[in-house]
Amino acid sequence: MPEGSPALRGAIPRVFTLGIAIESKDSNLCSVAPSRLKRERVISATESLDVTVSNFRIALLPGDGIGPEVTSAARELLDAITAIDPSLHFQTEAFSWDAEQYLATGSMMPSDGLATLAQFDAIFLGAIGDERVPDHISLRQIIFAIRQGFNQYINLRPVKLLGGVSTPLAGRGPDDLDMVIVRENSEGEYSGLGGTLFPDSDDEVALQTSVFSRRGVERVLRYAFELARSKGRPLSSVSKGNALNFTGVFWDEVFSEISAEYPDVPSNNLLVDAAALHLVQHPEKFGVIVASNLFGDILSDLGAALVGGLGFAASANLNPERTFPSMFEPVHGSAPDIAGKNVANPVASLWAVGMMLAHLGRVDWEDAIVAAIESVLVDGIVRTPDLGGTSTTSEMTTAIVNALKAPSA
Ligand code: ATP
Repeated sequence: MPEGSPALRGAIPRVFTLGIAIESKDSNLCSVAPSRLKRERVISATESLDVTVSNFRIALLPGDGIGPEVTSAARELLDAITAIDPSLHFQTEAFSWDAEQYLATGSMMPSDGLATLAQFDAIFLGAIGDERVPDHISLRQIIFAIRQGFNQYINLRPVKLLGGVSTPLAGRGPDDLDMVIVRENSEGEYSGLGGTLFPDSDDEVALQTSVFSRRGVERVLRYAFELARSKGRPLSSVSKGNALNFTGVFWDEVFSEISAEYPDVPSNNLLVDAAALHLVQHPEKFGVIVASNLFGDILSDLGAALVGGLGFAASANLNPERTFPSMFEPVHGSAPDIAGKNVANPVASLWAVGMMLAHLGRVDWEDAIVAAIESVLVDGIVRTPDLGGTSTTSEMTTAIVNALKAPSA
């Protein structure tokens, strides 16, 4: 079993504190490496509680557009969790690494930005994007820089239809739409390699180089197989081997090799165009989808559209070895059309907080957060405009926070 496989870290994670045992129900995915086990603070004898506190340091990157609004929602949720469970404490620090910073300094992030973020247990990012800064500059200088710099080679994107939300697929419901997309996150089509020749002339040429390394493809496929095995769900590998005669064929060959190591996991190999078709026609057949950076990106927006829109799409950029902090973010961009109006749907952001807690060893809290979101959606009283309602971001956040219940022991 290679380095980086979730199964390698296999022991069921348990954090024994004074009288408190925390156990992940999904041991393959949420184990907490001892080296990154959180700084724990024992409340002194002068304090009334004699429990151990897990203190997580979270870097907040609110970013642009609706980013600050949905980051505030995330912060409110973290405070609510601490109020319910004083053994969990979140020390947050916000950094204004956004378009304003770029316009003032020529850089989205200071030169020691990664070194600063490396001190944290996790990163939460709101949204990046501003019409005054070309997207390929803003995204590459901060989001891609963090993903690649911290070797966050797994991008997890749940595609799950919650109760109370309608899908555009006629006759389909929550039982039909419940999958996870595992997107390769550090190389592939988004490697950033390439160049231009003869700019501003009729002979202008642009080259964008895809990078598919054996290490990179093997590790994302193994991660996806482990995830599918832990969930008891089938795995679909998505590529385009009939047209991409080097990278696509290579991906398919490595998939064929790795799938032989997982005879117990039902798996198939789909062309990306066929995958798009099947996702609409037979979504119930998908459990885990694994794809390269570009294909995973596109399919996860399709997935978001099937489960209520971008307001529901959360994601985790994971460094599974925990050598570096992982980053959690809603999939949506800065949504300039609604920025500053307090109407953005906060669900993707709050769900991303849940994914962060799962990564920090508290998958029980992710379940509790998703349950609170779903209960508000099922009630149907508090809804942001994208859901046909008139509620504000703040009102929906407060409703979800009020619906939050401590995970059952
Ligand atoms: P960017 O340039 O930053 O990518 P964009 O407008 O191109 O911005 P998104 O920010 O992803 O892309 O927004 C696409 C559409 O989805 C917009 O109409 C936006 O208002 C809507 N949208 C995105 N996120 C949300 C949200 N959380 N709640 C409600 N609507 C949203």
